[in-house]
Amino acid sequence: MCRTTYVNGRYLPHRNAMVHVEDRGYQFADGVYEVCEVRGGRLVDERRHLARLKRSLDELRIRMPMSFAALGIVLREVVARNRIGYGIVYLQVTRGVARRDHAFPVPEVPPSVVVTARALNQARNEALAAKGIAVVSVADNRWGRVDIKTIGLLPNVLARQAALDQGARDAWFVNRDGAVTEGASTNAWIVTAAGTVVTRPADHAILRGITRTVLFDVIKTQGLHLEERAFTLAEAYAAREAFVTAASQIVLPVVRIDGRVIGEGKPGPVATALRREFHRYAEAG
Ligand code: PLP
Repeated sequence: MCRTTYVNGRYLPHRNAMVHVEDRGYQFADGVYEVCEVRGGRLVDERRHLARLKRSLDELRIRMPMSFAALGIVLREVVARNRIGYGIVYLQVTRGVARRDHAFPVPEVPPSVVVTARALNQARNEALAAKGIAVVSVADNRWGRVDIKTIGLLPNVLARQAALDQGARDAWFVNRDGAVTEGASTNAWIVTAAGTVVTRPADHAILRGITRTVLFDVIKTQGLHLEERAFTLAEAYAAREAFVTAASQIVLPVVRIDGRVIGEGKPGPVATALRREFHRYAEAG
């Protein structure tokens, strides 16, 4: 089957899907993106993802390229045309194409919109979750507004590669205070010896994950105690459990950090229960 990609109003064969070399996303990483899980052919938490997209665009003063409803139609069309049952849909909006100049284009140009979709291997993801993953810590050298979901991801790319080079799956960013901020493309969580679930508050130093937001509801219904506060790497080493969250993998247990075994070295009951319950609380499109 030929993959289909949406580019600026057209559904194109993936191999012919292109933007101009002077797209500001390509030249300046001047754009934002969203990744939504697809399950049973339906978008998970579309409303929240599009609301966050709008917020990211507002922060960068890029206008919404079309209404929420129209964007939703494009997302679903790309999912349908690619016959995605389980996978992800990717949406990117940049400030558009203009002669290269750091300042915003005058007059304004239309934002560029790209949507791709990809099937994921559900059995492989479940196997990964059943085994748990290793993470390594890296210095958080990102800019001060990573709450905006921009396509400027070079530190995240290097962090992820550093993890793979060390035989791990994800990297956890650690700031100058020794606090874990988040993963390279995930939010970071621990469960303390007392059983409290801890994750960093959604300030400007992390992305407010949609999975993270939904998980707050799941945690409440599981009768677990949640603390939204910064935690250190030392605390994470000593945690009973650790896990990461992201739309593409929901809840993924962490069983090793910097080579140190976490808890019993296997997925713990809290992460496992939160993963199992998650989709009862997410919005299915
Ligand atoms: N933090 C970062 C840096 C990310 O890139 C992502 C997802 O891409 C997340 C957190 C998790 O966000 P969400 O749960 O909305 O996928």
